[in-house]
Amino acid sequence: MSESKDFLRSIVEEDLRSAKYTEIVTRFPPEPNGFPHIGHAKSIAINFGIARDYSGHCNLRMDDTNPTKEDTQYVEALKDAVKWLGFDWGEKVYFTSDYFPRLYDYAVELIKMGKAYVDSLSEEEIRQYRGTVTEPGRRSEYANRSVEENLDLFEKMKNGEFQDAEHVLRAKIDMGAANMKMRDPLLYRIRHVHHFRAGDKWSIYPMYDFAHCLSDYIEGVTHSICTLEFENNRDIYDWVIETLGLKPPRPYQHEFARLGINYTVMSKRKLLELVEGGYVSGWDDPRMPTIAGYKRRGYTPESILNFCDQIGIAKANSMVDVSQLEFCIRDDLNTKVPRVMCVMDPLKVTIENYKGSEEIDASYYPHDVPKEGSRKLPFAKEIYIEREDFMENPPKGYYRLTPDQPVRLKHAYIITCKEVIKDADGRISEIKAVYHPDSKSGSDTSGIKVKSAIQWVSAAEAKRVEVRLYDRLFLAEIPEGIEDLNPDSLKIIKNALVEPAVVNEKADERFQFEREGYFYADPIDYTDENPVFNKIVALKDSWAKKTKVPQNTEKPQVKKEYVEGEVAPMSEDEQVLFDRYTKELKLNSEVANTLARDKRLSHFYDEALSTLNSPTSIANIVANEVARELKEKEADTLKFSPKQIAELVKMIDEGTISNKIAKQVFEQMAQSGENPVQIVQEKGLVQISDPAIILPIIDEIITKNPENVAKFKAGNTKLLGFFVGQVLKGTGGKANPTVVNTLVAEKLN
Ligand code: ATP
Ligand code: MG
Repeated sequence: MSESKDFLRSIVEEDLRSAKYTEIVTRFPPEPNGFPHIGHAKSIAINFGIARDYSGHCNLRMDDTNPTKEDTQYVEALKDAVKWLGFDWGEKVYFTSDYFPRLYDYAVELIKMGKAYVDSLSEEEIRQYRGTVTEPGRRSEYANRSVEENLDLFEKMKNGEFQDAEHVLRAKIDMGAANMKMRDPLLYRIRHVHHFRAGDKWSIYPMYDFAHCLSDYIEGVTHSICTLEFENNRDIYDWVIETLGLKPPRPYQHEFARLGINYTVMSKRKLLELVEGGYVSGWDDPRMPTIAGYKRRGYTPESILNFCDQIGIAKANSMVDVSQLEFCIRDDLNTKVPRVMCVMDPLKVTIENYKGSEEIDASYYPHDVPKEGSRKLPFAKEIYIEREDFMENPPKGYYRLTPDQPVRLKHAYIITCKEVIKDADGRISEIKAVYHPDSKSGSDTSGIKVKSAIQWVSAAEAKRVEVRLYDRLFLAEIPEGIEDLNPDSLKIIKNALVEPAVVNEKADERFQFEREGYFYADPIDYTDENPVFNKIVALKDSWAKKTKVPQNTEKPQVKKEYVEGEVAPMSEDEQVLFDRYTKELKLNSEVANTLARDKRLSHFYDEALSTLNSPTSIANIVANEVARELKEKEADTLKFSPKQIAELVKMIDEGTISNKIAKQVFEQMAQSGENPVQIVQEKGLVQISDPAIILPIIDEIITKNPENVAKFKAGNTKLLGFFVGQVLKGTGGKANPTVVNTLVAEKLN
């Protein structure tokens, strides 16, 4: 768990503290229409992680309400992913389709209450009637149908008596609602399709907005955590539960920012396109951002969970640099896996003065790693080194073997080149060299200075392996689709050579091939006849460099010895800002990331901070609200200033207004440019902490809900949350929640 608590955990803790719930129940509700990807990993980590941290439970629920795209293979892939990441969903996997009968009954109930009706407009008409953001919609004439007629039609819809799209069931809410989602949302539609679990029983299928909240309720979910794009759906979520008058405790929806990673596509539709178009070998192709892909590539669950932890949970959408994920896997493997030698492009070296043979005991792990273990490295007269580790006419700064420069063979001796042999085409075919007997690694008394150590294998004992070198699947930072594919994302080397221990001893499934990167024995294609290794990740971020230095195709790039994976995801200036934000100002890394990477935001932030020293509160509002505004407008057309933001934050900090009200004030300020203090005064939005005002409201709520009071007194303490919620609502969200909490608790006990 991260050191600083995220906003979701704060909510959960508050809900436990106030006894709104006695047990935390979350859920991970994927639609089984594709393999889960790294974005799902974030959601899995959040939902299962919160359940684990607070001794609750997380349900794995297949949200299978859209039968045309769903399939059991995806159900299995989802289960695999959750399990592989180390989480446990308990006894059973839940399916929304199991609730179809109950959902139907709930719909009938809404019809009976006059809160739902069968509409017979066409899809196009429904769209036209809905209105726009600036214009209210108008209600369908079919909304006047009687309850009896609605019940009859709905039953006939269920029984398959109509064609697809002939009718729909809609909630009767408000066609003029500012939130367009509330303009009589669809609850059911007719679809004559086979469902992979429910078979052909149903001709109608519930919409997400209807099925989701009720499934949460049925399962006793307390915190329904979803991504930001569902923010406006929250009103429907609440409407359905409230209108049906469902007994508390009830679930509440909370939104967090979706994970986006550059050079990566994450929509399942686009991933399916890659699979179906044969652009990758399948959902588990090691280049895919799917959990199955990462798993096959050799990523560890720990590295992915660390990544999810590092990026944090915030309310502002932001793009994460893919190098951050790569950093996490490198960081995890760095001290864990054995280091061995592999030569990808062999160049023969004959050591003319070497007689006989020997076995060198070489540690699998570097000195500073506490792990122990070693293997025998056969050394011989004929060895192979990497072709690019020798240069006849080296550029300045080339530290490896040249006609004038000796080099160390890692774990073994220093050699000096004596002669370069070329074939008929002028290509180097062999190096004749001598070794220095007193230069053995660990007991070197030769006094010869070398600038680097290179990998090598004994020609007679080396084993041939196939190495699959993976690179980013997309070239574009924000890829659209197949047009942005990287043509060089997979390079296969059929005849790489590894030292024998790698395939004979199998000390691990993952290895660091010295100076090359981390590799994983492919779990599917690896055989003794054809050992296959997938490149998990390079030792360092080669992309950061590639973009700066134009690549020289003739001369091999100069590699430094033993560079451990340092990532350079930000520019220097951005990094300085990021460090200051996280270290000095203690901002969480996602917020700091958002601010540091955007000049306009960081300027805005720094300026606001210079008027009010409240780093965290200002950062949150700048990284969320201001960022959203800036996305739509240019900085100089913003209607408000950093100073105004500081004034707004000051009111929150001082308890003058609640966070909820602050959002409202912000919206108005963003539209009109008015001063926030003035807005609060004019609209009477000052947070109410005065018991004299709050107590009468509490009394009123208590009188209105005698049954719940009785239940509470009989021991159902979960109802405290209900009362607090009602009182807050009664004050238009203006009451101070902490004060309300205390007062309600006192009153009821
Ligand atoms: P896609 O758009 O990739 O098809 P989705 O949101 O439709 O994804 P679902 O199967 O419906 O996929 O999602 C299951 C859960 O995973 C949801 O709770 C959703 O919020 C979460 N999720 C999906 N994508 C991401 C992401 N990129 N970042 C964080 N959470 C995500
Ligand atoms: Mg979806």
